[in-house]
Amino acid sequence: EIVFIPLESFSGEGRVAASPESVRKLTSLGFDVVVEAGAGLLSRIPDGEFEKAGARIGSAADAASADVVLKVRRPSSSEVASYKSGAIVLAIMDPYGSEQALADMASAGVSAFAMELMPRITRAQSMDVLSSQANLAGYQAVIDAAYEFDRAMPMMMTAAGTVPAAKVFVMGAGVAGLQAIATARRLGAVVSATDVRPASKEQVASLGAKFIAVEDEEFKAAETAGGYAKEMSAEYKAKQAALTAEHLAKQDIVITTALVPGRPAPRLITREMLKAMKPGSVAVDLAVERGGNVEGAVADQVVEVEGVKVVGYLNVPGRIAASASSLYAKNLVTFLETMVSKETKALALNVEDELVKATMLTHGGAIVHPNFVPAPA
Ligand code: NAD
Repeated sequence: EIVFIPLESFSGEGRVAASPESVRKLTSLGFDVVVEAGAGLLSRIPDGEFEKAGARIGSAADAASADVVLKVRRPSSSEVASYKSGAIVLAIMDPYGSEQALADMASAGVSAFAMELMPRITRAQSMDVLSSQANLAGYQAVIDAAYEFDRAMPMMMTAAGTVPAAKVFVMGAGVAGLQAIATARRLGAVVSATDVRPASKEQVASLGAKFIAVEDEEFKAAETAGGYAKEMSAEYKAKQAALTAEHLAKQDIVITTALVPGRPAPRLITREMLKAMKPGSVAVDLAVERGGNVEGAVADQVVEVEGVKVVGYLNVPGRIAASASSLYAKNLVTFLETMVSKETKALALNVEDELVKATMLTHGGAIVHPNFVPAPA
């Protein structure tokens, strides 16, 4: 059976859905692997590296004979139309509000899987693309902040005087936020963080950062069974805003990562709050794709708002493509391996498997995921 890895067509996407390591693994599982020429270039993987790992270098036309297509982004309608009916397609599908794209995948007859819907359970940890990519985004956010900041991060005591350590505040201490805390600490910043989930308090402290939050009764109950944040009440948000506004005014850099599943990103920083920060401060908004945590953030741009540089890059994992591809490729292969029969070494999709149920969007010509099945007309 053939696994095909295309060159990503989405503009600005530097990641690729394979690494030499993942190709070796796929080959050992019994697959014939075909990688589109140039697919790895922006992730610093030349075609020759894929060949050495056992892949054949092909062209976009090879998609037509593939039993499995591994991708970073959801295939476009013309791409998916070129796939074989019945092919398995794994990608970050971005399925919400994408009815037409789901319909296209269904009518192409492919079994399309949204990697970002992987349940956050122990068994699936090594397949969790949200974690692998958010972790790198958290790191890169600090690097981007350091680049925009016109001062040094660590304290430096020199004969010519002392440079104070930068103060970094991380809002939202999930996967990305915790990595941002760790990275800022490694660069020598004085780091504090906030979150609405009580479980995050200990994690923040264990990384050596100060935890700042309104710890009332609502906070103590603010985590869902799935470990995600809840939408907080207007009253809580007002108290949180007052506390963070005061803290923010003393910071040099703020990195926001706050998300609530299925909702627009919470607005945590207003223009007023930016105005109270020192000139030359930096705000990196990792939630810009979902509406932004910072007022005035512009998707894919660095803008100045009230004297603060507001960084709103999209696809931050793609800014560190070589590392992101390597982890993403591992996530994909681990998931695909669960679909291969141990006895026959052939693909054997088990639609009853909980990972399949959670991630499969289309199958057998229809949209099958309960969250996306169109309402009857
Ligand atoms: P996320 O990307 O959905 O959100 C980022 C963070 O923003 C979260 O920590 C959230 O609590 C926080 N947030 C939301 N509203 C906020 C507000 N108003 N103010 C401040 N912060 C706010 O979250 P994530 O990074 O995907 O992680 C969510 C949870 O899942 C965490 O508990 C994480 O440890 C857990 N997790 C578990 C597994 C696993 O078991 N396999 C894997 C990954 C993550």
